[in-house]
Amino acid sequence: MSHRLDVDVVVVGAGMAGLAAADALVCAGIDTMVIEARDRPGGRIRADNGLQVGGEFIGRPHVRSRALVSRLGLSLRPMPRSGPILWRTGGRTRAGRVPPVPMAEIPAAVRALARLRRDAMALDPARPWASPGAEQMDATSTAQHLQRIGGGLQATELLSALIAGFATTGVQDLSALHSTWWIGRAGGLAAALASGTGSQIPAGADALPTRFADAITAPIMYETAVTSVETHGALSRGGGYVRLITTTGSLRTKAAVLALPLPVLRRIPITPSLPGPLTAAMDDLTFGKATKISVLLESDRGCRVRAAVGGSPLGIVWRAGRVLSGITTEPGHEHHRLLDDLLGVFGVSDQAVRAWAVHDWSGDPLSGGSYITFAPGRLTRHGPALRRPHGRLAFAAAERSTWPNSIEGALESGRAAGRHVRDLLLPR
Ligand SMILES: Cc1cc2nc3c(=O)[nH]c(=O)nc-3n(C[C@H](O)[C@H](O)[C@H](O)COP(=O)(O)OP(=O)(O)OC[C@H]3O[C@@H](n4cnc5c(N)ncnc54)[C@H](O)[C@@H]3O)c2cc1C
Repeated sequence: MSHRLDVDVVVVGAGMAGLAAADALVCAGIDTMVIEARDRPGGRIRADNGLQVGGEFIGRPHVRSRALVSRLGLSLRPMPRSGPILWRTGGRTRAGRVPPVPMAEIPAAVRALARLRRDAMALDPARPWASPGAEQMDATSTAQHLQRIGGGLQATELLSALIAGFATTGVQDLSALHSTWWIGRAGGLAAALASGTGSQIPAGADALPTRFADAITAPIMYETAVTSVETHGALSRGGGYVRLITTTGSLRTKAAVLALPLPVLRRIPITPSLPGPLTAAMDDLTFGKATKISVLLESDRGCRVRAAVGGSPLGIVWRAGRVLSGITTEPGHEHHRLLDDLLGVFGVSDQAVRAWAVHDWSGDPLSGGSYITFAPGRLTRHGPALRRPHGRLAFAAAERSTWPNSIEGALESGRAAGRHVRDLLLPR
């Protein structure tokens, strides 16, 4: 790489956010290059051994993801909803189609669910921090909030297990505003759960970034990590540039999109330093912990249930035909213990296993965790700054969007960053 200004924009990171930004820039006729540390696109969408160990479900409200699936010639297959669920809460294990809430607790559970829905639907889905009562709700943990709305012991435990499973963090560490936003953004609790387990891409979720990367005409430089970023001069004065130092050389460009997860971005020196609120958001926000296991069986004969909620080490488990998957948020598990738990849920022996794969996202230095989990107080404090660009630097990643835990959010934020840079370089 030379030190001349030889490309207008560099997008750092070829996850869905980076690819969406590059796509928007290329469509605007801007000379763009993508730099990616891994040897493949997709970041937190990942297949090992042909099994999906990262993001894979696309929900009904995920309109950008659905449109991209069809643009790339892929298809979606809804997850089957029939069959019982194994409820592993309250120190007991029961299989059933409906949550095991005792009759006496049902009125309180119904009232609590109605309250949860009312609170969720009252939030501004784009800017939850600007909603009335947001500060107070944000100051409360999801665990405290669930206690307060009083759904009864069993329902509270079930809701806690469900929310913790999807959020990949304990409900005591999750702001009530974040969990309520997640519910409201999808249009209710059932819709949020359904989007998180909506449809799969039969060709494999990893086909989405692979085909997207092929469809974008911008060159992608793999196995090249950006190690520091410098901005020089003001864009308004014509000159000036961004200098990106990478593991294979340095590069000058007019503007850059940093499409990197927060835990990764915070380790990359940026000079001059970013304004206080942007740095504070980077330093203060955390990602959930998730290790995902996926198993391909010879046959799904004998699998008694379709999913499990609660339990340990896997807090959430599901089956799509012959593929069993589960996520643990507990650190440091032997992979064989995860496999035993997964097979135990479905009542199959290890003789039935054809292939399996595990990925620990918290131990992955290029991700730093699963996805954002706003701890109490953090969403109102840092939410607005996350969406803000800074001069010739734009930022993209799922956590900077209105779908902060989804592929949909990565696409939304990537496009917004692409538009920002386009407007900088091609003022109307
Ligand atoms: C276990 C798990 C399950 C999930 N399930 C779902 C699901 O079912 N449905 C759903 O919608 N979402 C799901 N998600 C979330 C979804 O995968 C993410 O929100 C989305 O993929 C994030 O995309 P991104 O582009 O923001 O970030 P990333 O995908 O993390 O992309 C960032 C890219 O930057 C690269 N990079 C990092 N450092 C550097 C550097 N220094 N220089 C250059 N490149 C660098 C990385 O290698 C990566 O490719 C799941 C996530 C996990 C972890």
